[in-house]
Amino acid sequence: PFDVLVVGGGPAGASAAIYAARKGIRTGVVAERFGGQILDTAAIENFISVKHTEGPKLAASLEEHVKEYNVDVMNLQRAKRLEKKDLVELELENGAVLKSKTVILATGARWRNIGVPGEAEFRNKGVAYCPHCDGPLFEGKDVAVVGGGNSGVEAAIDLAGITNHVTVLEFGAELRADSVLQERLYSLPNVTVVKNAQTTEITGTDKVDGITYIDRSTGEEKHVALAGVFVQIGLVPNTDWLGDSVERNKFGEIMVDKRGATNVPGVFAAGDCSDSAFKQIIISMGAGATASLSAFDYIVRSQVE
Ligand code: FAD
Repeated sequence: PFDVLVVGGGPAGASAAIYAARKGIRTGVVAERFGGQILDTAAIENFISVKHTEGPKLAASLEEHVKEYNVDVMNLQRAKRLEKKDLVELELENGAVLKSKTVILATGARWRNIGVPGEAEFRNKGVAYCPHCDGPLFEGKDVAVVGGGNSGVEAAIDLAGITNHVTVLEFGAELRADSVLQERLYSLPNVTVVKNAQTTEITGTDKVDGITYIDRSTGEEKHVALAGVFVQIGLVPNTDWLGDSVERNKFGEIMVDKRGATNVPGVFAAGDCSDSAFKQIIISMGAGATASLSAFDYIVRSQVE
């Protein structure tokens, strides 16, 4: 069996694997797609000490760093079931069952898409999902935020300080964000809130030049010219496969304590799949290291043979 088996090969999983392997214990990584979300990211400018990099480049560095160590990397493999017995068992979609003293869940998350024409086509060409990451790329320009929940309104407040103007498009008749956030939003001079707005298309040629929506109260189609669209309609953790095997919150995020431990002894979690307050590369890496050190501590203390 493994000592530490990591599920997920994004920043959290890679960090967990390196920290485990450096303890000289048997370490494995199962990843559906080694690299994770950063494979879909263009510019990364907030990975501290690296002024600028690109997602695929950072993913390649992660892999290179992991491969410096004796880590059994099982790429293109999807985990489908977890069960705690004496050891923790992990069943893969290909039928194999792996056993380990500890498991670190680092399966990440995915942004919910609107699913309209132009969204996929202009991804990283004006369509963005992370205001902390991509906000500065739209300095002085006009942007829209799709989604009027907490994340959408927070994004709009953040972007209003950087961009020229922000249009918030909310599908429902009211914003769903907390009232303090709404008050702050409405106090800003360069924000327009449109309710009952059903986004139908993100337009552009080589990059985004506007957004089209239907005003659901009148049925009228409208178009706003702008340079960027931030989609903020939810971040979905990749945790459905866990069912009831590990405690999750109402968003499906795996609940962890400050050591990265879940409610199941020997099972830890880190990064975007967990209930961490913020979802960023540097935060995921720190959480992966924390979970890994906790797993090592668990092995030492429980002396599982
Ligand atoms: P992920 O990166 O999501 O990795 C999850 C891993 O688990 C993947 O390898 C996946 O294949 C695997 N996996 C999932 N399910 C299973 C399963 N059942 N079995 C096996 N493996 C599985 N953050 C920043 O800090 N700066 C930025 O500039 C930035 N820009 C971003 C731009 C975009 C377009 C996106 C989408 C995100 C961006 N982020 C940015 C956020 C950042 O990418 C994430 O916070 C970070 O990747 C989370 O790391 P993670 O390891 O927790 O999860």
